[in-house]
Amino acid sequence: MNKIKKVFAISAIFSLVFTLPSAALQIVYPKTPNTEVSAPSTFFVGNTSPDAALKINDKDVKVFDNGSFVEVVPLKEGFNRVIIDSKAGPEHDIMTYIIKRIPPKTLTIPEAELIEFAQNEFIYAATVKSNTPLRAQPDEYAHRITHLDRNTVLMINGKKGDFFRVSLTPEKNAWVRADSVVTYSTINSKMLANIDEVSICEDKLYEYIKTKISIAAPYKITETDTGLSVDLYNIKENKADTAFFKPDRTLKSLAINQISPDNKSTYFVELNHRLWGYDAYYEDGCFVLRIRKAPQIDAKQPLKGLTVAVDAGHGGDDAGAIGPTGVKEKDINLDIANRLKTTLENAGAVVVMTRTDDTNPELYSRVKTAKANDALFFISLHANALKDGADPYQKHGTAVFYYNAETVELAKTIRDVVTAKLQTKDDGVGMYSLVATRPTLPLSVLVEVAYMIHPEEYKLLLDESFRQKAADAIKDALETYVKTNCCDSGINHQ
Ligand SMILES: [Zn+2]
Repeated sequence: MNKIKKVFAISAIFSLVFTLPSAALQIVYPKTPNTEVSAPSTFFVGNTSPDAALKINDKDVKVFDNGSFVEVVPLKEGFNRVIIDSKAGPEHDIMTYIIKRIPPKTLTIPEAELIEFAQNEFIYAATVKSNTPLRAQPDEYAHRITHLDRNTVLMINGKKGDFFRVSLTPEKNAWVRADSVVTYSTINSKMLANIDEVSICEDKLYEYIKTKISIAAPYKITETDTGLSVDLYNIKENKADTAFFKPDRTLKSLAINQISPDNKSTYFVELNHRLWGYDAYYEDGCFVLRIRKAPQIDAKQPLKGLTVAVDAGHGGDDAGAIGPTGVKEKDINLDIANRLKTTLENAGAVVVMTRTDDTNPELYSRVKTAKANDALFFISLHANALKDGADPYQKHGTAVFYYNAETVELAKTIRDVVTAKLQTKDDGVGMYSLVATRPTLPLSVLVEVAYMIHPEEYKLLLDESFRQKAADAIKDALETYVKTNCCDSGINHQ
């Protein structure tokens, strides 16, 4: 019994058959017949009998050969009646939608008052979770200056709304959510850290720069043209001597500046190769900067032995976007992910899947899975949709999103190879702050293969050979990226 179930589950995954629409008129978007929209237009996504004559508010609408239709409907202020009339033979199938166009929501939350602490008065606090963002403004959507490991010690010198103001230098403040730190006592001067020594060690995959430090001070890592620069704040003294430093295959140079009058210590890390991922954390009284080494590859089989994390977007009760005939993005994503797994494995890669069935793992846990398995790449697979006000016939194609500068070239390579192979429109490479794109380790990108709500692209997404080609193209792009950046990037092999 168990065995039969298992076989069924496996065959269900590998031979995903998307159900055909029934002949009757079905609207999958807007989601309900009475709905509110704050944009000057919405669109109707649905399906009917492929030979039906379809009109929306008396305008002829193209029905594609799988019965799909997508139509942009302009909206006037107030109530809009939209009549969808599908005529097959003598039969009319009619639906009426009432869409209320409302003014765009403007949040009028009164601005909180800034509570300024007395000069030299600080609350001493520590971050509760790893990956805690410090922001430029006391706002949930403000620019992220840096992410901190848990138990990083912060000096708080003010409060506004839900945020604490964090003193980095006398001139530079940042903001942290009050509920993401635990506060200790109020003190009358900053607690400053001492640094005794810096050492370097390595293992198979990473190089580690370890700084022995008396307090887990806040830090900021910046990607530079040649590597990384790291600012450590609230430092009294840095006694580290880099005379010991000897260049190796990864590190070209390491310079540690003297402590500036604003109690900041800056490390300049120059690499012999491009960035392949990095992160920082506190461990055993040390600030650890971990740098991924360039993979050593076999040019004939560039992905051999490399670990790739494949993330099928959405899942479980999160369907993602829904196509005109009702197929869910989560199922398309998982099918392409399974194909990508097979093609990568055939190319010699080790593949880690963030989900293998119809479940919805929490977003951060997907990234955690990739990191815990030392993946070199994290590839999140999606199929796109749009918000009200956009035109699905204008905006479509393949898009790739990144967040960190180290992944721009990877995103472009995937976009180039996928659009060339699939002949999809180039919908661009964009910087987008997402859980799936923000990690600095592994190299993380999100691929929107094509649009669920563009009738022709949707038809392609339903086609098994297209999904296979998409998976093959992403594999090819990773091969190209690895080959280009490992073999001829001017690496100075010492
Ligand atoms: Zn998605």
